[in-house]
Amino acid sequence: KHYAAASFLISAQTLAQCPPDEGWEIAFAGRSNAGKSSALNCLTSSRLARTSKTPGRTQLINFFQIDEQRRLVDLPGYGYAKVPEAMRREWGRHLGDYVSQRQCLCGVVVMMDVRHPLTEFDHQLMEVAASRNLPVHILLTKSDKLKRGPAAQQLQTVRNELKLLNGQFTVQLFSSLKQEGMAEAWRVLDDWLEL
Ligand code: GDP
Repeated sequence: KHYAAASFLISAQTLAQCPPDEGWEIAFAGRSNAGKSSALNCLTSSRLARTSKTPGRTQLINFFQIDEQRRLVDLPGYGYAKVPEAMRREWGRHLGDYVSQRQCLCGVVVMMDVRHPLTEFDHQLMEVAASRNLPVHILLTKSDKLKRGPAAQQLQTVRNELKLLNGQFTVQLFSSLKQEGMAEAWRVLDDWLEL
């Protein structure tokens, strides 16, 4: 798969440190521990995202290059419980700046644990994206943690909730462990990146 060629480009802490705002970018966001690193690694069949849980590392926006014009962007995980409130606000601000202002951003993938979807911050992030008419694709991660029936039911529940919101939202089940949902996710990414 083409994203297998993705390679680390640069880390940024603020919008000003991001690479030139051109081409296409897809951002990956999610609560800490939602399975974002695993999903990114899975989708790129490499070890792109550092799975390190050190606060110092996770606050960075990490850019991975697919080709000259296309990048995957690993946004800092939010809701990291062990981090002081002030620091959490700071992360939220940089993350919000990026999602609200980045012109080359063509879509946001939000990872949510299938057992705990649509947290308050998930909603906030989706609102920021929706206010710019950016599509949001939700991966309900760790779907292997539920049996097939309950997983399908959860997917339907989330789908119904999304219908009540304003915005371009799609959702699917995903398991990095079982490598399930990859083709469905790739179709969305390819479409956004015009590949
Ligand atoms: P991040 O903080 O969002 O980057 O989350 P990680 O990718 O580091 O995953 C958090 C935890 O969830 C780790 O213990 C992973 O092993 C586990 N995990 C991630 N993806 C899956 C999955 O698809 N299935 C299961 N069962 N566990 C997963």
